Amino acid sequence: MTRKVVVDNTLCRNYGICAGIQPEIFVIPPGSPFPVIGREIVEDDDLEEVREAARSCPAQAITIVES
Ligand code: SF4
Repeated sequence: MTRKVVVDNTLCRNYGICAGIQPEIFVIPPGSPFPVIGREIVEDDDLEEVREAARSCPAQAITIVES
């Protein structure tokens, strides 16, 4: 199974909480209105932090997609 993280840029309000929790995956370049995904595939070691970011996002813009 592969897990990917997706940010819905139409929902994101650039609170930056995700980048504070997992800055290698949620990268907010200077001046960017939303995070860029630095590493799309979510490894097992990252899963709990990515889940925490998704739970913590006030805009509910983060989804983990499993395939
Ligand atoms: S926490 Fe949510 S709203 Fe804030 S930057 Fe991350 S994805 Fe966007």
